[in-house]
Parts: sequence; C-alpha cells; structure tokens
Amino acid sequence: MKEALTVLVTGGNRGIGLASAKLFADAGHRVAVTSRDPDVTDDRIFSVACDQTDSDAVDVAFAAIEAELGAVQVLVANAGITRDQLLLRMSDDDFTEVVDTNLNGAYRVARRAARPMLRARWGRLIFISSVVGLLGSAGQVNYAASKAGLIGMARSMARELGSRNITANVVAPGPVATEMLASLTEEQRTTITSQVPLGRVAQPHEIAEAIKFLASESAAYITGAVIPVDGGLGMGH
Ligand code: NDP
Repeated sequence: MKEALTVLVTGGNRGIGLASAKLFADAGHRVAVTSRDPDVTDDRIFSVACDQTDSDAVDVAFAAIEAELGAVQVLVANAGITRDQLLLRMSDDDFTEVVDTNLNGAYRVARRAARPMLRARWGRLIFISSVVGLLGSAGQVNYAASKAGLIGMARSMARELGSRNITANVVAPGPVATEMLASLTEEQRTTITSQVPLGRVAQPHEIAEAIKFLASESAAYITGAVIPVDGGLGMGH
C-alpha cells in the first residue's frame, strides 16, 4: 500500500478480524476494531465497543474512530454470528438475529463509512461472506441467507460508488480455525474438512492476506468481485 491508511475491522477482537487487524498494523496502517466486547490488548489497535445491530452505536463508534485515527478509508465488514438450526426448528429470532448482525450490520457500517469515502473520492469496502452464501448449508438457512445477501449488497455498492474510486468486494472463506468453527461438533468438523480439496481448514491469517490484498493499490481495478479463500470447497459456484 502506498501510504498509511485508516482501517476499520468490525468483529476484530478475535478470529479472522483480529488476524486482519494485526496484518494491517504490521504494515504500518492505523487500525481500529469494533466488537461488542472490546478486549483487544494489542496497543497498535484502537478497540471500540460497538454492537452493529444498533445504528446509533455504529455512529458513536465511527465518531470515536474519526477523532482518534481520522476517517475510515478501508472498511472490513467482518463481524458475524451463527445460530444454526434445521429449518423446521428455526425460530424467527434465530433467523432475524443472524441477518440483523451479519447483513444489516454490514449495511449499517458500510453506509456510515461511505460518506467520508465519497468526500475523499477513495475507499475500500471489503465484506466477509462465506462459501455457504453460494453453496447453501443444511442447518444454516439464516446464515447462508445473510452471507448471500452481502454479495448483492456489495455489488450494488460497487456500481453506485465506483465512479468515486471506491471499490466494494467480497471475501468468501471456507472453514477457518476460529471460535466459530470450534462451536461445531468434532464430527461436523471432520465432515466439512473431508469435503475441502486441500484437506484442511484455513488459519485466520490466510483469509487476512486476501483482505489485505483487496485493500491494496494492487487491487485498484477489482470491484464487485467475490474472492474465494476456501481450499477449493466452493469451486464452480
Ligand atoms: P468469531 O466468532 O471468532 O468472531 C466474530 C466476531 O464478530 C467477534 O469479534 C465478535 O465480537 C463480532 N461480533 C459478533 N456479533 C457482533 C455484533 N452484533 N456487533 C459487533 N461485533 C459483533 O468468528 P470468525 O473470526 O470465524 O468469523 C469472522 C467472519 O468470517 C464472520 O462474518 C464469519 O461469518 C465469517 N466466516 C467464518 C468462517 C469460519 O469458518 N470461521 C467461514 C466463513 C466465513 P463480540 O462477540 O465481542 O461482539
């Protein structure tokens, strides 16, 4: 990257988000992370409490980040949750909570981030979807819907904001060794891993590398793309 940028990674207190935040910090960027529980101890990272299901909380968090680090130039909309359940047992709350966090939450932060990006005529919006957004996944009707929604949303932003030099792209990871994956049973993890052509799950930094690339000048002509980082699990979709 040509200069130090202000980067916000949502859901950055652990997992893929924290790995990405550390990678940006290693490269000398100004990095903020949000999460409901802001417990990051890395003193290079500005950690802010923000529940992204609340638009007012998003506004407050952005104001704090702008005061500390300047306007957000790179947004990594990474925060997400699962509430897995078979369709007939899924409650309205299970569905709504996942979509409100993963899709509506990403919309809230992207809308807030876009305003100063438009003024600056430069920005990078990077959304963390999932291989299951395209493949579907039994027991994840809510989660897959939210992750598929991110793709249509990002591509609409790519069309709307492209003339101002703002790109909007999606990273679609396969299984990654984080707390989210740890919440599955051993049997579920073994089944998923057996379907991955590379025969293993990813480490968080392997997703972070793709995110960092999309934020870089090398990716200046990439917008509306869905970049799979999935060991081949989703290929062909
Ligand atoms: P983790 O569960 O380790 O981290 C999720 C992050 O999201 C945490 O920082 C959490 O912080 C934050 N978060 C959750 N709800 C909210 C909220 N309402 N407001 C703000 N922050 C919130 O997950 P991963 O690192 O594994 O996942 C990161 C992203 O990658 C997610 O979007 C996930 O769907 C996606 N992904 C993960 C895969 C995997 O196998 N791990 C595969 C494909 C995609 P806190 O709880 O403190 O709020």
